[in-house]
Amino acid sequence: TLAGRTALITGSTSGIGHGIAMQMARAGAKVMLNGFGKPEEIAAARAEVGAAMGGGDAPYSAADMSKPDEVRAMVADCEKTLGACDILVNNAGIQFVSPVEEFPDAKWDAIIAINLSSNFHAIKAALPGMRKRNWGRVVNIASAHGLVASPYKVAYVAAKHGVVGMTKVVALEVAQTPITCNAICPGFVRTPLAEAQVKPLAEKHGVSEEVALRDYLLEKQPSKRWIEVDEVASMALWLCGPGSGGVNGAALSVDGGWLAA
Ligand code: NAD
Repeated sequence: TLAGRTALITGSTSGIGHGIAMQMARAGAKVMLNGFGKPEEIAAARAEVGAAMGGGDAPYSAADMSKPDEVRAMVADCEKTLGACDILVNNAGIQFVSPVEEFPDAKWDAIIAINLSSNFHAIKAALPGMRKRNWGRVVNIASAHGLVASPYKVAYVAAKHGVVGMTKVVALEVAQTPITCNAICPGFVRTPLAEAQVKPLAEKHGVSEEVALRDYLLEKQPSKRWIEVDEVASMALWLCGPGSGGVNGAALSVDGGWLAA
């Protein structure tokens, strides 16, 4: 369904981004990867996604999403290497958990830069090409925390609410073109970013990791289970496939019922 399309997916060496890259590659898109990791992890991701595209290593940009120049260069690299950037998935993100009074300024700056500003710089760089080719898909991986808050995540919640707002503005600006811009708002997804939050909760409350997961991390997720990476990736794939053109400016929840409660 994505044959002939090209896709740039930020933060695709791990977790949700990697899952989206795999599903889009299997659907026939040419995919460029981005993200950090040990050299062997990056090589493995390139080989795996490359195999799903029919062989060879998937192209990769090492751009740091906290640096606007590198974000712009990444989009240009995608347009040069793949001939276009038809699909942009803004997925790279980090988390940090602390009460607001103790929240380190440097963590605030990093989360706003990586989770919010990078989306702006990438969209700004990619839209002219999408307009020229008269087709495009921007998919921003926001979060349930783009719609509601939890304590101790001030930078993350602020950034993700910003992503949802940015999504709506871009959607309005492209509304009369065959380009769409949408956000996906996952609940807790089984990835390194979320799994890292279980152990500190277990220690804080003096319970097992199993209990910490169910009673504390997934406190607000009525399904009481992890969302799987592929359950988020399939939403991203659908937004880029045929029949999705009427969905624009939406914040689509994939959260086991969190926002319904
Ligand atoms: P992850 O830690 O598994 O993957 C994050 C990816 O971003 C990695 O590839 C990492 O290398 C990359 N990255 C981090 N900083 C970067 C930088 N400065 N420049 C370039 N790449 C960078 O995390 P994940 O859970 O897959 O998260 C992906 C996105 O989904 C994030 O935006 C996150 O906020 C969002 N999200 C995750 C969950 C969850 O529960 N896991 C829930 C809602 C939203």
